[in-house]
Amino acid sequence: MNTNQNTNQEQKKHFLTSHKSIRFTAALCAAATLAGGVAYAATPDTAAAAPEKTLVSEAADSTFTDIIMTTYDAQDPSSSDLIRLRTAMDETAISLVVIHNKMDAAMEMQNHIPSGWPVDSRIVSTEFNPTADPSISDGRKHEGMDISTKSQIIPIYATATGTVVTANYDSGYGNQVIIDHGNGFTTLYAHCNELFVTAGDEVKKGDVIATTGNTGWSTGIHCHYEIQLNGVYQNPRDYLA
Ligand SMILES: [Zn+2]
Repeated sequence: MNTNQNTNQEQKKHFLTSHKSIRFTAALCAAATLAGGVAYAATPDTAAAAPEKTLVSEAADSTFTDIIMTTYDAQDPSSSDLIRLRTAMDETAISLVVIHNKMDAAMEMQNHIPSGWPVDSRIVSTEFNPTADPSISDGRKHEGMDISTKSQIIPIYATATGTVVTANYDSGYGNQVIIDHGNGFTTLYAHCNELFVTAGDEVKKGDVIATTGNTGWSTGIHCHYEIQLNGVYQNPRDYLA
């Protein structure tokens, strides 16, 4: 620390301890000094008998609130401004925590809604066709969407967070996984080669739960992907974004 800095520190200390009525301004100046290195050279005319207080701005990790409260004096009417300011800052901090928690909860709810593709392939070989509309794909009734892959080692991802309720072999669906997402949504991934989960497992959105295969009633390597909401089949196309 050079001579000028020493002088400046002495001026700050004298300034802060010289008179109660200027402490609030002093705190703001100290905060400004911390924030931007702003120097000031105010020197009061009179020195009061107030007890000397440590200049907290010398501590590297001091917060604005710390600085203000070192100048708080319950006997000093001007300190009521400090109390109000601290209360406002505390309330702001509490509000930010509440907002943060609500955002976390909203994001967690969002994770329980199916979204995105269950495999990295974008080759849709058969579209969703729950009413056997002859204009869709091959016109057969199809309550899911088939996404073809070129090999059997392509990972299948859970499209939402939830609990595995079924992980077994079915003569039609082959090796299948069904996940309950706890909000009316279930997803099903069928014709898998290998399953990596068992019933009861908790999975997160994006977890690899199986690999694509050609098991069950299937004529090629693909993932048959279904989404139900409250027991009603949904078009997976509406949930790919
Ligand atoms: Zn299918």
